[in-house]
Amino acid sequence: MTSKTLQSLSKVLLMGPGPSTVHPNVYEAMGVQLLGHMDKEFVGLMDVIKAQLRQVCGTANEVTMPMSGTGSSGMETCYVNLVEHGDKVLVLHNGVFSGRMIDVAGRLGAEVESIDFEWGTPVELEPVKKKLAEKKYDIVAVIHAETSTGVCNPVEEIGKLVKENGALYLVDGVTSLGGMEVALDRWGVDAFYSGTQKCLSCPPGLAPISFSERALAKLKARKTKVPNWYLDLSMIINYWEGHTRAYHHTAPISMNYALHQALQNILDEGLPNVFARHKAMHEKLVAGLEGLGYKMYVAEGFRLPMLNVATCPEGVDEAKLRAYLRQEHKIEIGNGLGPLAGKVIRIGLMGETARPENVDRLLDALKAFKG
Ligand SMILES: *Cc1c(COP(=O)(O)O)cnc(C)c1O
Repeated sequence: MTSKTLQSLSKVLLMGPGPSTVHPNVYEAMGVQLLGHMDKEFVGLMDVIKAQLRQVCGTANEVTMPMSGTGSSGMETCYVNLVEHGDKVLVLHNGVFSGRMIDVAGRLGAEVESIDFEWGTPVELEPVKKKLAEKKYDIVAVIHAETSTGVCNPVEEIGKLVKENGALYLVDGVTSLGGMEVALDRWGVDAFYSGTQKCLSCPPGLAPISFSERALAKLKARKTKVPNWYLDLSMIINYWEGHTRAYHHTAPISMNYALHQALQNILDEGLPNVFARHKAMHEKLVAGLEGLGYKMYVAEGFRLPMLNVATCPEGVDEAKLRAYLRQEHKIEIGNGLGPLAGKVIRIGLMGETARPENVDRLLDALKAFKG
């Protein structure tokens, strides 16, 4: 039996920007008895997880595996391994998470430049093309699904421009992975990271990453050691790759069980079906919201299916609305971040949350709100 404290916690429908609803079989997976982290059977499971991740990420990259830590540890992994002092990094900036990239790269001594786009609008190709024609960069980075604004950035088209420049292409897929197509090899992505608690519908705690051969070549050619021991891929690869495995740090075993099960659920449903379900639930939600007088913050055509940002009708206070949903209906939705704080609500339809009964439950609750 769990403690009375744990038993007293509410069962909340998670419709915010993550974590998302977790399937019962993923909770069950977390309760499966531990193996040793160097056990042959556990190593076998690690190989299965890598193969599953390659499928979901659309890549043949050998180095495709979960890092210990949440999505931000994936971001940090990409930068600490690939950036050396003085490297030229260009960040395409249109929300909180690209802002975080600028901070992370700057702390490592990179010469960071950004092109800033208005929040709620996607990265535009013309200014990127112009900038990349002027100067050779070591890394160009972008967020695929910007969770703070609900915008989808054109990662495939940007990838073509980055290829001409010769820079490594770094993409954040924390919110997109498992909810819309991610095709790392076709898009020419060199370094990619994600997180487990968004569309993978797993608790937070692991950060899937993928590195191309070009990215690994840059890592091997470093003049200086990776400045972070815990996230140093040149050592961690020896635990996740090859015939003999070397201890680096203890893998979060139960989290890996959970990730395996969550990936299995997605692959069993079929990637195209999973993506179609996210899109259909998004359309259902948008129709319902607009019917109730809410306005979508992002223009049609640039909206993410799994993260819906809206402004409230006249007279509806977003903070009161969120408190009401949580108290009266046990539904969590998200608030606005940064310049959008107090101005918008963010509704997540991530992974297992993207089901018709959940959309209906939220719309009914919104209808019943009296302000
Ligand atoms: C959530 C998120 C992150 C950070 O992930 P954490 O798990 O909170 O560390 C990074 N990028 C994007 C786009 C996100 O949505």
